[in-house]
Amino acid sequence: MAHTVKNVAFIGTGIMGAPIAGHILDAGFKLTVYNRTRAKAEPLLARGATWADTPAEAAKTADVVFTMVGYPTDVEDVYLGSNGILEAAPKGSYLIDLTTSSPQLARELHDAAEVMDKHAFDCPVTGGEEGAVNGTLTLIVGADERTAAPVLPVLESFSGKIFYFDRAGAGQLAKLCNQVSLASCMVGWADALALARQSGIDEERMLEMLAGGMGGSVALQRLAPRAVEGDYRPGFLVEHLRKDLGLALAEAEELEVTLPGAETGFMLYDTLAQVGGARMGTQAIALLYEDEEAAAAAGLDWSILPPAEPDPHEHHHHHHHH
Ligand code: NAP
Repeated sequence: MAHTVKNVAFIGTGIMGAPIAGHILDAGFKLTVYNRTRAKAEPLLARGATWADTPAEAAKTADVVFTMVGYPTDVEDVYLGSNGILEAAPKGSYLIDLTTSSPQLARELHDAAEVMDKHAFDCPVTGGEEGAVNGTLTLIVGADERTAAPVLPVLESFSGKIFYFDRAGAGQLAKLCNQVSLASCMVGWADALALARQSGIDEERMLEMLAGGMGGSVALQRLAPRAVEGDYRPGFLVEHLRKDLGLALAEAEELEVTLPGAETGFMLYDTLAQVGGARMGTQAIALLYEDEEAAAAAGLDWSILPPAEPDPHEHHHHHHHH
């Protein structure tokens, strides 16, 4: 690859990908895009990006290929599928996955690319839709500074901070730490809101008071007001936080560490996804504290959920008490 990046390919122009790709375009790089649903790439095409019919087509002349898709299975598809970027990208190119995905998969893709004289690393992000729109995302890089240096100009076009975790997959692990902490922040403000609501104190004043103090969080500042307003449109999808906590709990199990906060968060987001909230924003956690009628008005359907299994521990109670 030439020492300066010129051609950039971007796969996955959803909530996060579209604004990120927009910043890459604004920075003057030549951009080729592919997305499963073409309509979501149209605004970028109108601004001068080139459409490709497959991921491979997008990658074949690229110096750098970014992916920002949904799930690890989507990452696998786009890298290794029949029209995959791993095979199609030129030797010396950089394949950078911005998706929140599996650390193990990131290591596998890195190793497979290395053999083909290509550079693949994980680079999940944090900062939410706002961070993507403002170009101020925090990048969580699964490579060292030297490895990423050639692509720094393009990374800087959409980020505010860059953290290097030095090894393939380590960016994903650090991102999962972020999601584990985020889950408890979400449960924290949703609990607080439910308590305030039930007690009759002023909810908004309570949230404003919390925001600047030890009990506050960026999650509370940005998302609790949306829940109070009844705005459950997605900035960050419920089904994606559920995925992230599932990935974190799988890692935790492998590493033999218990994460009670993440387990609680997973249970709540899993339930929310099952009762019709999968494509809502994560602030919809507040709906789990509402009565059935209010939840139904917001679009949830508790009758979808299979009836709870009888608790097996109940039967043993007798014996324990002897
Ligand atoms: P999104 O709006 O669903 O975007 C994902 C995009 O990837 C969609 O446009 C989707 O196509 C496309 N896609 C999925 N699988 C594909 C495939 N196999 N081939 C081609 N395109 C494919 O979700 P998002 O909010 O941008 O999130 C993307 C990733 O970033 C997720 O892993 C999420 O966990 C993570 N993330 C999100 C946020 C946030 O605040 N939103 C923050 C940090 C990280 P369609 O248009 O057909 O659906």
